[in-house]
Amino acid sequence: MAQPTVRSERLAGLTQGMIDFHTHAIDPDLPDVGAAHAGCFPRVERTGERSAQIVLDDRPYRRIDDTCWSTAARICDMDREGIAVQVLSPIPVTLCHEQPAPGAAELARAQNDFLAAMVASAPHRFVALGAVPMQDPALAVAELTRCVTELGFVGVEIGTRIGELELTDAQFTPFFDAASSLSAVIFIHPVDRDLDPRATRLGLAFGLGMPTETAAAAAALLSAGVVQAASAARIVLAHGAGALPALLPRLDRGQHLTAAAETGGPISQAARRLWCDSLTYDDASLRLAVRRLGEDHVVLGTDYPFAAREQPAGAVLAHLEPHLRQRIGTTNACALCAGRTTRTVTVGT
Ligand SMILES: [Zn+2]
Repeated sequence: MAQPTVRSERLAGLTQGMIDFHTHAIDPDLPDVGAAHAGCFPRVERTGERSAQIVLDDRPYRRIDDTCWSTAARICDMDREGIAVQVLSPIPVTLCHEQPAPGAAELARAQNDFLAAMVASAPHRFVALGAVPMQDPALAVAELTRCVTELGFVGVEIGTRIGELELTDAQFTPFFDAASSLSAVIFIHPVDRDLDPRATRLGLAFGLGMPTETAAAAAALLSAGVVQAASAARIVLAHGAGALPALLPRLDRGQHLTAAAETGGPISQAARRLWCDSLTYDDASLRLAVRRLGEDHVVLGTDYPFAAREQPAGAVLAHLEPHLRQRIGTTNACALCAGRTTRTVTVGT
């Protein structure tokens, strides 16, 4: 059985090629959890040898092809775009944090076993983030622990809220404590079903709903001190941290005006504990994320293999200085996935 130290050995000394931290994968033969459990769970229907579709609420959700599950197909694309390693994570809509826990737990376990098999088929090209049934914190801690200590994953992916609950709810404290104890990565990724209905009605779910949802979750975690308390966990925000980098000065001002969390120090200072990916599609936005979170806390992410992906991988890095390109493209993800940080962060006074 793989040990957690494998994750760092696999990336140690990597000097050629980039690491894509934000990619997704799914089992084309995903178990139909909804057939055996209460709740509404996605399933996958094969439509051809190399194609399938994800079905949600008995309606087609997304057409997919074998780049979602074939390591050979992925490696072909990776080699073409200079990606040495991909970090695999579940497709967010499969996290199902709002559904009954038994089905979500079975789905998470099946997905994690599939991701582990993908990694095992090409261990020098892939590492993984697992799924956890957050709606049952004890089960989530158990699956997180299995992911990191048995499957050799670097951590897990979670949504921005758990049903009607915020991530700051006290019942999730054991999860963040466990992630900190394991020095695990927590990749926070917005889920379509959780977005503000207003953004969805406006047809702006992707452009507006996701970045604001991510910013709201992150601001709550910072304001409540969850990020600061889980000091050894490494929390990574998808999509360049969404709207958070632009909002941090205003969050500081609001904190001052309301005299909230006075003992915790400025939110913008605590935010430097967070990480984010580079998926902004714009180098000015990426530079702002670098300025707010730190040049050692931003990693390449593309959303491979979906339509939203940055193509070619790392295109947004083209106009950055060489040292920053190297950090975001490769070095920072090595440190992140190996459980090391390249600096000491001091929060509060
Ligand atoms: Zn994504």
